[in-house]
Amino acid sequence: MRLLKQLEFAFQRSTIHPRAGRDVALETTVREILSALGATRLADSVRVEWNPRLQTCAGRAHFSEKLISLNPRLCEHGVGEIDRTLRHELAHLLAQLRAGRRRILPHGAEWRDACRDLGIGHEARCHDLPFPVKSYAARFVYRCPNCRRNFHRVRQMRRAVACLACCRAHNRGEFDARFRLQLCRGGL
Ligand SMILES: [Zn+2]
Ligand SMILES: [Zn+2]
Repeated sequence: MRLLKQLEFAFQRSTIHPRAGRDVALETTVREILSALGATRLADSVRVEWNPRLQTCAGRAHFSEKLISLNPRLCEHGVGEIDRTLRHELAHLLAQLRAGRRRILPHGAEWRDACRDLGIGHEARCHDLPFPVKSYAARFVYRCPNCRRNFHRVRQMRRAVACLACCRAHNRGEFDARFRLQLCRGGL
């Protein structure tokens, strides 16, 4: 039987998202990381932006544009999560750079190698994860038994889903049944 795999953040939708546009400080960080790994041309051209239009994923990497987009809602989860997501997306760029014209799987061996080089060797492969949908449509409420964050869902979740923040904090980002989300309200 195959359980699990999906992890997610709890994002509050009520918070205002002041961040949008390029982030020079994060770009500097990324350039330094890439330079240290010898990827100097990518270091020169890479850009990092906050994109409030990202709805359901924490971040996204566009290799052709050398652009990393981050969801402003990440800011609610502290610098650790921002850095983690930044490195996850950076690993996509680095993996494709190293692969050249060869097509690679988004979270395949090349990406995992890049993650290791970027210091996030145990990164979970999922980032295109649903942020809470609009609350008026959410009929199901799940809760992390550890941090007590709530997750709102339109549909009942079929797979085992764990709290990403807690999995990262206590299990290197791997699925951990201790943090499996529990249904606390549904079918209303
Ligand atoms: Zn990814
Ligand atoms: Zn949690």
